[in-house]
Amino acid sequence: MHNPWYATVVTLFPEMFPGPLGCSILGNGLRNGLWKLDTIQIRDHATDKHATVDDTPYGGGPGMVLKAEVVDQAMEEGISRQSGRKLIYLSPRGKSLTQSYARHLVSNFSGVVLLCGRFEGVDQRILDTKELEEISIGDYILTGGEIPALVLLDVCARLVPGVIGKQESLAHESFENGLLEYPHYTKPQSWKNKIVPEVLLSGDHQKIAQWRQDQAEKITQVRRPDLWETYIEKNKY
Ligand code: SAM
Repeated sequence: MHNPWYATVVTLFPEMFPGPLGCSILGNGLRNGLWKLDTIQIRDHATDKHATVDDTPYGGGPGMVLKAEVVDQAMEEGISRQSGRKLIYLSPRGKSLTQSYARHLVSNFSGVVLLCGRFEGVDQRILDTKELEEISIGDYILTGGEIPALVLLDVCARLVPGVIGKQESLAHESFENGLLEYPHYTKPQSWKNKIVPEVLLSGDHQKIAQWRQDQAEKITQVRRPDLWETYIEKNKY
C-alpha cells in the first residue's frame, strides 16, 4: 500500500482538528490510512515562562503578530516529520485556492505542512526564510487560518486515490473540466408539478451525455463568464 498523503497543521487551536474532516468519507479515509492528519501546538514552542507566542508590531498599529522564532520552531517540527511536503501559510494575501492547485498538491507532494495565522498574522521573516506558499480561500477575512486549513484539506483529501470510491464521480464535478456541473435529478419523476427532463429517462447514454454537456456549458456561460472565457479559449470554440 502507498504511504498516506500526510497533512500536519501548525496551529494555536489543535482541538479544531480533525473536526469535520473526521466525518463521512474523509473520516473513513483517515481511519483506513489513505491520508493522515496531525497537529503541532505553536505554544509548545514558546521559550519563556509565560509561553508567549505573539508581540506588538514594529511601526505601531493595532493587534499582535505571531513571533518568528516560535513559529519557526513549530514549523521545523512539522517539516521533520516527513520530507517532500509542500509548506503553506493560509493567508488572505495568498494565491486563490483552486481545484487544480489542490490536485497539484495531491499529485506532486507527499503531503502538506499548513501554518495557521492568528491575530494580525505572522512575522514576514518566517514567510521569507521558509519560502511558504501563501494560499487564500477567498476575498474575506477569517479570525484564523484553521477554517481555511480545513477547507484546503477537505478539497485535497477527497482527491487522494481511494478516498472517494467512484473516481468517476470526481471527473464531472464543477471545475474539473473547466465547467460548472450540470443539474441533477432523482425520484420521483414529478414533484410539485416539476418534471425531470425527458432525455434523462430515455436510456440513450449518448444523448444524456450531450444534454449534460450543453447544460454545463450554459450554466457556466451565465454564472461564471470568467471560467467560460478560459474554457472556450482552451477548447478553441
Ligand atoms: N491582518 C491580516 C490581513 O489583513 O491580511 C488578516 C489576519 S486574520 C484576522 C488572521 C489569520 O487568519 C491570517 O493570518 C490567516 O492565517 C487567516 N486567514 C484569514 N482570512 C483568510 C483567508 N481568506 N484565506 C486564508 N487564510 C485566512
